Amino acid sequence: MTITTATIPDSAPLRVDAATGLLVGARQVLSPHFDARPAGVKPDLLVVHGISLPPGEFGGPWIDRLFTGTLPADAHPYFKKIAGQRVSAHALIRRDGEIVQYVPFGERAWHAGESQYRGRAACNDFSIGIELEGTDETPYTDLQYEKLVALTAALLRSYSSLSDQHIVGHSDVAPGRKTDPGPSFDWSRFRAQLGKHHTAGGAT
Ligand SMILES: [Zn+2]
Repeated sequence: MTITTATIPDSAPLRVDAATGLLVGARQVLSPHFDARPAGVKPDLLVVHGISLPPGEFGGPWIDRLFTGTLPADAHPYFKKIAGQRVSAHALIRRDGEIVQYVPFGERAWHAGESQYRGRAACNDFSIGIELEGTDETPYTDLQYEKLVALTAALLRSYSSLSDQHIVGHSDVAPGRKTDPGPSFDWSRFRAQLGKHHTAGGAT
């Protein structure tokens, strides 16, 4: 288990630094896999993903390595298939609730691939991608729900272009191609916790 040295108490609201697009207190592992959003385009969609490397194994260093372009192809048979991919997400929430950020939220991360949301293609242009460490079948942890709610609330506060009405899974924008975050992600639980967070004035 990773012990983080967060200087901010767990109960404190998360905060995005507006100037840098970085989440204060998150572990920053900045990825070279990003570029600018198209001119004038602001993020107005949140895409929730699930990932584990190798599939079904948790806690290793491999997600950081994939998103920074340093995954060793020979470390696991599965890695041969994906080692050359230039992909990223804005952030990852690990099983223990640790948040890792790879790309500033204002920039375009490469997480959704070929995708479409309500008739608009190329979701990376206008979305923020959050990965949960997990699989389609393994229930996500309580800490992951807690941190996803806190992070979503922080993003909603920081980017007025975002809305709690426009939060989807990767499988929703790339059906037939992607299945994550999978049936193991409990959308009604997430939405209920997010709603409660809002009405509690929790940090808003
Ligand atoms: Zn995904």
